[in-house]
Amino acid sequence: MANLKVTAEDEKRVKALGFLRNKGTDNFSGRIITVNGKITAAQNKCLSEAAELYGNGNITFTSRLTIEVQGIPYDKIEDFRAYIAKEGLVTGGTGSKVRPIVCCKGTTCQYGLIDTFGLSEKIHEEFYNGYADVKLPHKFKIGIGGCPNNCIKPDLNDLGIIGQNIPNYDEDLCMGCKKCSVEEACPIGAAYSEDGVLKIDTESCNNCGRCIGKCHFDAIEDGQTGYKVAIGGMWGKRVNRGIPLNKIFTSEEEVMSVVEKAILLYREQGKTGERFAQTIERLGFDNVEAQLLSDDILSRKQEILEAQLHLTGGATC
Ligand code: SF4
Ligand code: SF4
Ligand code: SF4
Repeated sequence: MANLKVTAEDEKRVKALGFLRNKGTDNFSGRIITVNGKITAAQNKCLSEAAELYGNGNITFTSRLTIEVQGIPYDKIEDFRAYIAKEGLVTGGTGSKVRPIVCCKGTTCQYGLIDTFGLSEKIHEEFYNGYADVKLPHKFKIGIGGCPNNCIKPDLNDLGIIGQNIPNYDEDLCMGCKKCSVEEACPIGAAYSEDGVLKIDTESCNNCGRCIGKCHFDAIEDGQTGYKVAIGGMWGKRVNRGIPLNKIFTSEEEVMSVVEKAILLYREQGKTGERFAQTIERLGFDNVEAQLLSDDILSRKQEILEAQLHLTGGATC
């Protein structure tokens, strides 16, 4: 360690740019933001070239859908950034702020109920880029899953979004078949026959939409696309499963608004160093939910953004 030339101060400076020291060396891993886990063939090629030109030739993938090129010498960092910028790629993703968004492949997945890539891109633009200079008490992670299969574990993020398809069931059309194809289609037993008629237990139904169109008598012809939002999840030194808000949102605009309100609330009412889960625990879920479902906090947006808060955030990694 005694021979290292890059100072702690320089290390901190480049960390904010997304370059993390390879332990025991003066080389760094550059963290590239993929926006939604999807890159073009041209970007892929550019990264491979950059890894050979400036790094040690290795590329790794992080759990939050970013890509790290290892072994970049400190004095090659700017050249590396300029090289990947040719294909519109940037580094970053550290600090006490909105972190790179993680989404599943819901847009193309056979079970996907929402356009996860599209929504991820919008949130990235608005709240990763748009709020890049907004300091928060700690990191703020957002995850988007295309259906209740929860492949990317949205509810282990500070804010998780889960695609929904809420079945429109018309009980009057139910003929009470001996063998109900809707009951058979439901993977979790939320649809069941009782007294010769199909019932849906709305408490346990996760709105996966798998029953839609399965009734031969059109009792469930269609459904309503929706977005469940869970708040206060985290995974790491401390583990917490996010709690869903008691409202299913039915448009992307509503979801964008609730994401913004959550970030503003966390900035305004969170204490430096605490994760969103702890803020929610301290303020009470009902209180936080009421604020997220009303627009009061948006009327204070400018004031919240301009306040001198969390000048040194709590995130250490
Ligand atoms: S969460 Fe659903 S939509 Fe997303 S990858 Fe998994 S199964 Fe597909
Ligand atoms: S298949 Fe349709 S009509 Fe028959 S029991 Fe099920 S919901 Fe009712
Ligand atoms: S939406 Fe999914 S969980 Fe709900 S009743 Fe239909 S199949 Fe079952």
